[in-house]
This record gives sequence, structure tokens and C-alpha cells, in this order.
Amino acid sequence: MSLSGCNSGGVILEIKEFQQFMSDLYGHNDRRRGATATMLWLVEEVGELAEAVRRHDTENIKEELADCFAWVGALANLYNVDLETAFLEKYPLACPTCGKNPCVCTD
Ligand SMILES: [Zn+2]
Repeated sequence: MSLSGCNSGGVILEIKEFQQFMSDLYGHNDRRRGATATMLWLVEEVGELAEAVRRHDTENIKEELADCFAWVGALANLYNVDLETAFLEKYPLACPTCGKNPCVCTD
């Protein structure tokens, strides 16, 4: 599958492919910037997401979620974290607290 020029349009991007894409696209910038500055960018995007949610701006929420996801990928790449493996270790297709799916915790 070619990722070049794709704009969603039916393209399925596996998590590993997403991380490789982020590495190819921005890895050189991420390494130059470093983890601390990359973390600040992620926090800034989370703030922008919060503002979009506060305004119930669904189009902007979509964009900011994508930005947050991208920065999470950048940070994961800087620490050589395989997000799919990390996620499944933490959330083994069940709630990590109650062990159920769906979760039966009450927050
Ligand atoms: Zn639970």
C-alpha cells in the first residue's frame, strides 16, 4: 500500500504504519527538537483540543484529535515505543482495572 498522497479516502493505516509514516515524515525534525519540546507541542495541541471541545466545534475537534494523535506518534517514536504493543499491554482488549469488556467500573 502506498501512503503517498493519500487523504483518507478508503486508506486503512495500521498503527505500525502510522508510526513509520510519522518517522519518515517528521522523524528528523522530532530528533532535532527532542522529547521535551515535542511533549510541549503535544500539550499545546491538547489545549487546542480542549478549546474545540468547549466550543462543541466538531470539525475542529476532528482536526485537533488528529494533531494530538500525530504528536503522540512523534513522542512514541522518539522513545522507540511501539504504540500497538504498549496499548495492548496496558489494555488487553479489556479494562485494565476490572478486566471486563465492556468495563463495569463506575469511574
Ligand atoms: Zn473497568
